Amino acid sequence: MAGLSVGFVGLGTMGAPMARNLVHAGFDVTVHNRTRSREEGFPQRASSPAEAASSADVVVTMVSDTPDVQDVLFGPDGVAEGARPGTVVVDMSTIAPDATRTFGERLAERDVRFVDAPVSGGSEGAEKATLTIMCGGEPDDVARVRPVLDAMGAKVTHVGPIGSGQLTKAVNQIVIAGYFLALAEGLIFGMKAGLDMDKVLDAISAGMCRSAVLDMRAANMLNDTYPLGFKLSLHLKDLGIALDAAKALGVELDLAGMVRDIEQRLVAERGGEDLSVLASDVRRRAGL
Ligand code: NAP
Repeated sequence: MAGLSVGFVGLGTMGAPMARNLVHAGFDVTVHNRTRSREEGFPQRASSPAEAASSADVVVTMVSDTPDVQDVLFGPDGVAEGARPGTVVVDMSTIAPDATRTFGERLAERDVRFVDAPVSGGSEGAEKATLTIMCGGEPDDVARVRPVLDAMGAKVTHVGPIGSGQLTKAVNQIVIAGYFLALAEGLIFGMKAGLDMDKVLDAISAGMCRSAVLDMRAANMLNDTYPLGFKLSLHLKDLGIALDAAKALGVELDLAGMVRDIEQRLVAERGGEDLSVLASDVRRRAGL
């Protein structure tokens, strides 16, 4: 898109297809990734986050966790060193809401604007530019970066001030914790009862059970294979963020706590597999 140049930092499972979608949409995109080989195929590459930010109107960061966002923003050769006053930094990683507010304050000291914009929709959503994007920030800043977000997602919602995007993502992760475990328990129960599971799926997907999790992950659970997807280890990280925020708010989350315990049990062996691997634990305990 004419007029807006974008620096993009973090070309992992999510970031690489998101950055490609920005290139396809016509933005002037410069990418950087810590493991530089992942930049291959992109037309413009930068040697550091600072360099990627130096000529950008908008800088997108898409890395793993809170300390990683801190590294790419404020570490040596970080975005903060390179960004010009007035640049809007959009962090699309899923990280802690309180740290997000601190990052916004630190960037504001340099007249750099900040929007938190975590996503839902998995690697499929990143590839197809159908992500759900939840934003926190000043209305003018969100409006400024909206064309960039629209090129990566199908639904962009401005929820409130900085941190609101991450809090909304925590809501999302609390809810999907329940969906995944409930689907695993229902399907393993049905298998153990000897039902024809194709017919079961056909029946329940038309009623109240209907969900994206059922549509996209029931087959994994039935086949006992869990290709990525969304890594179990990343959901465990997200539940930790959500449970910490809930504790600070004085909200007890029994179901989310239970799922976190199961995930902790599984993560050493199967942390690189999709979150639907929760079914393997239910399956094992059912003797299947
Ligand atoms: P990923 O495939 O593991 O990629 C992580 C990226 O972050 C890589 O580019 C990695 O660089 C970079 N990185 C990590 N730590 C870094 C550091 N300290 N300094 C510089 N770069 C660093 O993860 P992902 O699946 O793309 O997820 C990215 C974010 O999106 C996470 O916050 C995740 O929770 C969120 N998310 C993921 C999904 C999903 O389905 N995967 C869905 C929604 C949201 P290297 O290549 O050098 O390792």
